[in-house]
Parts: sequence; C-alpha cells; structure tokens
Amino acid sequence: MAANATIPTANPGELRVVIREKMSKATDADDRTATSARLKKLFEEVTASSPHNTSNFKTCVVTWVDKPVDTLDPKDILIYLVRTIGDSLLRQAYPALGAQLAALSAADRKRICGTTTAGVNPTYSEVYWDADYNQTTARVANTMFHECLHNKLDMGQSMHDLAPMAGDIGGFLQGDLPSKDDLALTTKDKETMGG
Ligand SMILES: [Zn+2]
Repeated sequence: MAANATIPTANPGELRVVIREKMSKATDADDRTATSARLKKLFEEVTASSPHNTSNFKTCVVTWVDKPVDTLDPKDILIYLVRTIGDSLLRQAYPALGAQLAALSAADRKRICGTTTAGVNPTYSEVYWDADYNQTTARVANTMFHECLHNKLDMGQSMHDLAPMAGDIGGFLQGDLPSKDDLALTTKDKETMGG
C-alpha cells in the first residue's frame, strides 16, 4: 500500500490548505505552482486584513498532494481537484449527490465548476479542472476560494444571495463567478472568510 502524503507541520498562525488531486493528473507542475500561488494570495489578503480576520491565521501555505493525508487538523482546508464531474470523488462518499451529478445535462456538467457538500458532515469541496469557467489557473483558484466559502459557511446555493453586488464587483460569493483572472475580494468576501 502506498504511503500517505505528508504536509508541512502546522505552524501557529499559518492556515494549511491542501489540494488533493485525483491520481489521473489534470495538471502539470507549472499549473500547480500558479494555482497554489493565487490561492495563497487570496487567503492572505483575508488574513492580512485585520478588521475582517477574527482567526489567529496570519499566513497560508498551500500543499498539493495526490494521495490521502492522514495528519489533517480540523482547521485545515482540504479541496479535491478532479478533471470532470464524471471523476467526482464526492459522489463516492455521498451517493445521493452522485445521482444528482449523473442526471445533469452535458452543458451543465461543463458549466458547474465545483461542488461543496453543505449541510452534511464532513463537508467536502471539489473542483472540476475541465469546467468551462476554469480555463486558467487563476480561475481554478477563484473557484477553489468560492467553494471554500461554501465550506466555511456550510451553505449551499443560498450563499450566492449574500453577494453584495452583481457582475465583476460582486466578488467570490456569486453563483457565477466573473470571468476575471484577477477577480478582487470584496469586503464582504473578506468578512465572510475571515469571520
Ligand atoms: Zn457556489
């Protein structure tokens, strides 16, 4: 049996984000570096923004693994990354979700860029590399941050109603994320993730 993946030892004040990619890798090393850097930047904009950060986290470390991690702490964030909805790992844990995903039209299967299992325990998030929106590594990171917001709030579709505005200035809470690589966090995004 293959050994489990190791991740950096938890340092005080450091948020650990682990991206677990299914064995059939969709990414190359450059993709992983770019996606990790963008996601780290987004989380550190929250932790650096002290009025909106009520946690003890000051920095963020993103680690990419391709096998299970058995040393996760409840405060760690785990995101699954698979190529398509057809590769979903969540449907293995939640057959009802699997049935929903299987019933989607071909267009919807490409449109949905991630899923979070709000309302159940444990809460999992996964992101689909080949979704229409996820055309760049920055947008994959944007989707990951959006799914982490669902995960943080343990909210499904109703979370999208929390977006303060629509369009490019609506930020990361919107159901359909703006197609901008450099999408900026709104104050509401920071309050929501940091609260
Ligand atoms: Zn959403």
